[in-house]
Amino acid sequence: MTKYYRWPDRQLVEPLMHLPGIHWPLEANTIRKNSLANTFGMVRSGGQRAHQGWDLRAYPGTRCFAIADGEIVFVGWRGDYGRIISLQFRHGGRTLFATYAHLSLPLVTTGERVTAGHWIALTGNTGNAESMTGEDHHLHFEVRTIVHPGQGVAGRIDPREIYGVVPLGASYYDTRPAMAQQMGSKAPGLKINGMNVL
Ligand SMILES: [Zn+2]
Repeated sequence: MTKYYRWPDRQLVEPLMHLPGIHWPLEANTIRKNSLANTFGMVRSGGQRAHQGWDLRAYPGTRCFAIADGEIVFVGWRGDYGRIISLQFRHGGRTLFATYAHLSLPLVTTGERVTAGHWIALTGNTGNAESMTGEDHHLHFEVRTIVHPGQGVAGRIDPREIYGVVPLGASYYDTRPAMAQQMGSKAPGLKINGMNVL
């Protein structure tokens, strides 16, 4: 039985918020600046402007993980999102797309099948996040119902529908990727020009 901890105080949190087979996108998950404006919905400009996902605080180079078993259906550049990865997965009878944006380095390719917890990318500040500094550095994370939706919140759902909580005012620490690294079992290796940088 996997245990879940709040971060940074490592207080045990209720496992009920975690659904079987669903991981968190980062090891430590916290809404950027603990601000409602960085959660999902019409949360910006006094309710006039949408934010399409969660901004999870992450310095460039932070490891991102597949939140579920599935297939990588897009790896590439999408305007303000910068470098993104979309992971198609099944949840609650639906096909959804976990989308990770502003990435620096994708570690998977289109068509690749991954399992939950697979290390798929490093965060970055590509796209309109290029001027972000300090604690504004983040992973922009969306759960979409289609691969490439347009403006607004259409084509997305609140990630809260997956996790049952919003990591606002509390950080959620998913120990599973870290444990995989320690055990070295399913941990992905990363080799660049023959040099093992894992
Ligand atoms: Zn964002």
